[in-house]
Amino acid sequence: MGYHLDTALQKVDKRAGDALARQRGLRTVGDLLWFLPRRYLPRHADLGRLVPGAQVVVVGEVLSATTRPMRARKGRLLNATITDGAHQLQLTFFKPYGHEGRLVPGARGVFAGEVSRYGTSWQLAHPAYELFDGEPAGQDGAEGDVDLDAPLLPVYLPVKGVPSWTIGRMARVALDLLDDVPDPLPERLRAERGLPELRDAFRLAHHPRTAGEWRAAHRRFRYEEALTIQLVLAQRRRLAERSVATPRLPTRGGLRDAFDRRLPFELTAGQTAIGAQLDSDLASDRPMNRLLQGEVGSGKTVVALRAMLSVVDAGAQAALLAPTEVLAVQHHRTITEMMGDLAQGGQLGGSDVGTQVALLTGSQSAGSRRRARDQASTGAAGIVVGTHALIQEHVEFRDLGLVVVDEQHRFGVQQRDALRGKAERPPHVLVMTATPIPRTVAMTVFGDMEVSTLAELPLGRSPIASHVVANPRWLARAWQRVAEEVAAGHQAYVVCPRIGDGEDADDAEHAGQDAGQDAGQDTDEDLPADDAAEADWEGEPAAPRQLRSVVAVLEQLRAEPALAGLRVEALHGRQPPEQKDATMRAFGAGEIDVLVCTTVIEVGVDVPNATAMVVLDADRFGVSQLHQLRGRVGRGSAAGLCLLVAEQAAPAGVERLTAVAATTDGFELARLDLEQRREGDVLGARQSGARSQLQLLRLLRDEELIVAARQDAQEIVAQDPALAAHDALRERVASALDEEQAAYLERG
Ligand code: ADP
Ligand code: MG
Repeated sequence: MGYHLDTALQKVDKRAGDALARQRGLRTVGDLLWFLPRRYLPRHADLGRLVPGAQVVVVGEVLSATTRPMRARKGRLLNATITDGAHQLQLTFFKPYGHEGRLVPGARGVFAGEVSRYGTSWQLAHPAYELFDGEPAGQDGAEGDVDLDAPLLPVYLPVKGVPSWTIGRMARVALDLLDDVPDPLPERLRAERGLPELRDAFRLAHHPRTAGEWRAAHRRFRYEEALTIQLVLAQRRRLAERSVATPRLPTRGGLRDAFDRRLPFELTAGQTAIGAQLDSDLASDRPMNRLLQGEVGSGKTVVALRAMLSVVDAGAQAALLAPTEVLAVQHHRTITEMMGDLAQGGQLGGSDVGTQVALLTGSQSAGSRRRARDQASTGAAGIVVGTHALIQEHVEFRDLGLVVVDEQHRFGVQQRDALRGKAERPPHVLVMTATPIPRTVAMTVFGDMEVSTLAELPLGRSPIASHVVANPRWLARAWQRVAEEVAAGHQAYVVCPRIGDGEDADDAEHAGQDAGQDAGQDTDEDLPADDAAEADWEGEPAAPRQLRSVVAVLEQLRAEPALAGLRVEALHGRQPPEQKDATMRAFGAGEIDVLVCTTVIEVGVDVPNATAMVVLDADRFGVSQLHQLRGRVGRGSAAGLCLLVAEQAAPAGVERLTAVAATTDGFELARLDLEQRREGDVLGARQSGARSQLQLLRLLRDEELIVAARQDAQEIVAQDPALAAHDALRERVASALDEEQAAYLERG
């Protein structure tokens, strides 16, 4: 009898299988094998020879346990003594609740933690532990789950009721019973890259003898991930190379020339050069697929608009897709304003060469939506600006020639595809991002695109000074600085991580998603810090911290003496669209002094007179996000000021903010960001527990693997585009695409 990878986990262990399915979505033997340990703790051989700070794992028995009130502060203290048969160790718990009943003399289990000196003995403060007798009778002895000879104990993401060693044992059983495990990686590649075979890699990962063994396994899995992604991209590139687009040739004396004549400024050299590049891309019969990156305020919008106008000159249409409603509305307004009568084509008083600029968002009235759709389908609108509504509803274009996607690093390839699918022939595509993209991210997330970079900022841009406010006493000074900016005729943003209107369950807008994780120090450089922290067996939950909300801060600032007499208003994503729009308009017109808001203003919002920004609970935002936010000030000729308030932050959080304050170099910040946050977020997909594409790959650390995989993928696809000769690899790629699809549908 043997198992296949798709055998139900319940067959290996019914009770544990149920728990794994419920809590982590693991249903098959394959799911389990892909549920790789998050870290490995060395089993400590000799308690007689310890050094302070060592991580130890001890199999032992409780000798005695007592609880007593603490002397210096409130609360009680639990002290227990355990023995491994040869030596003794003290366990200390400052919150005995839940431990007292379990840590009784005679209880046996595994204890893990960091040892420290305590008088003449050694102690573990708040160790993670699992008791053997917690297992229900009838199972094979729980003690049998722990391989007492293994020098390393694999630790998995926590599953209630199923200790790490039970998961490890199930994986070992599954591996022993497994028939044949087809390896997606061709043997030649494995040999060339020095990677273990799939079945071996599972063994090395779930049951390693040495750190070198699990590292080799993880390396293989990361390479496999990288190769899968790169194969998808290579296939995509190949398809694009063979697809045919309609060339949109620039014309003289049309809309674009008229627009250029009325531009109130000179284009920078970079804008001109990229403009010429776009012209030539658009004139080609291969669909353009280009990423335009440039700092916030580098003038990407003008570059994109000129390309759109050129396409309109060629008789076609352009769509501009913005990530938020606020931004779509603002783009629509800026574009119409910049175009003046050129945006009133076909209307009385409009220019002869002009066109119309339609706006389509999800929350418009049915009437204006219908009008916008008509403008798109008849071709009256040469430019259609919108949010996802453009993708979701079946908006028809008369002839869609160019799709521009703004600030869209969060979205995957699928969304670009969805828009592309609108036209008979694929339209040209331009994606803009203000987040500088490190090479491997570009290769992975935008691996099917050409990249252009706007390096310089337009003249007259002012520097932004950033400061971290980590001491509550300085907060009053922060409000004074805001008042000073307003007194000087400027405006300010105050950004909060929450809305606080009562629907709090999930009211962080982008903040929650991108927030820097307060992850513990990475104990092992090879594993993701956040997951390692999560994997702690019984970590004490930190007291939940009350984050600042728009609603509360609005009230507070209206009562703040330093801001007396100022016009303070709120803006957040759950306000009705008309209200949001009216607030943004009033702020843009200088009728509001201080705007208390969430990250709805994160991307692209352009109010040059706003010179100050206070970010509250700043440690809850990601590095790139802070950089984006900060880009909202200093857009005019006055110097910008950004105060990152983090008086409740952990030291690591303050350190991160200090790094953000110290530089405005976007590339450096992008690297910092990548080091800190979950890779899944970078790619736009969050994963729970089950196997998924970017669980192991880290885009900074794995640069060498990614570059290698890209090269290998290119070669494989060149020889065998459909992967006809690579069954397992083809399946792997297909299932990765299914997951991407599922994640995309989930996000809506
Ligand atoms: P981005 O989208 O890259 O953040 P925008 O295109 O919104 O930047 O440009 C920011 C501001 O700079 C806008 O007000 C725009 O009109 C202005 N701008 C763009 N290009 C130039 C230029 N060459 N000289 C002066 N101002 C410019
Ligand atoms: Mg912009």
